[in-house]
Amino acid sequence: MNNCRTGVYICSCGTNIAKIVDVDAVVSFAAGLPDVVLARTYKYMCSNPGQEMITQDIRENHLDRVVVAACSPNMHERTFRTALKSACLNQYLLEMANIREQCSWVHTDPIEATEKAKALVHAAICRVRLHESLDSISVRMCPNVLVIGGGIAGMTAALELAEPPPSDHALMAWKKPSLSVRDREHPFHHRRRPTRIDLPPGRRHHGRTGVQSASPEVAAWGPTADSGRKDTWSGLPSVP
Ligand code: SF4
Repeated sequence: MNNCRTGVYICSCGTNIAKIVDVDAVVSFAAGLPDVVLARTYKYMCSNPGQEMITQDIRENHLDRVVVAACSPNMHERTFRTALKSACLNQYLLEMANIREQCSWVHTDPIEATEKAKALVHAAICRVRLHESLDSISVRMCPNVLVIGGGIAGMTAALELAEPPPSDHALMAWKKPSLSVRDREHPFHHRRRPTRIDLPPGRRHHGRTGVQSASPEVAAWGPTADSGRKDTWSGLPSVP
């Protein structure tokens, strides 16, 4: 991808970031990197004025990529994606660099924290260059869960999943003819679940069954049993 027009926004988060990271130095550094049309800092980038700054810059400077260096994407990636959308720029042409949790919150040396922030911002600028416009799609999700293995971990996972909700169906498969005596008599089960080795009605379990293959596709997995007992897998979803 050549000739991107990237806007870079370095957040101070009040003093949360600015007390350790020299945000002005990061702005100057970013402004000199290839593809960067403008670089700015602001006290609270997630505030309405901060978002409006981004949308206005996108429109006035014809930006086609945005980098926000602030907090964790878990916190505000959705906020900034919305800002891009409101400026008619595809929301996925955004990259965030976490210079709060990964720099100012974990470093005490301002020089080291600032150099790390520069490195993270540089990486984000390089990465956003590779982003493409994407469309959101809806995919029918499979609510079934297959637990492979009838040991303590498998039994515990299947029992947890069999509780409604979240899963409509918990399926369990193990290779041995039956659950082992050792596992049935494990003190964990005597202490926590003395009578509940079997899954509740409506939850399937299959002994002497292995998994031959499984589709890696998100939301469309379709495991194949190696036992030849195809009927036992009829509760599994078909690929949409
Ligand atoms: S965007 Fe994140 S780092 Fe910036 S002010 Fe908001 S919460 Fe703080």
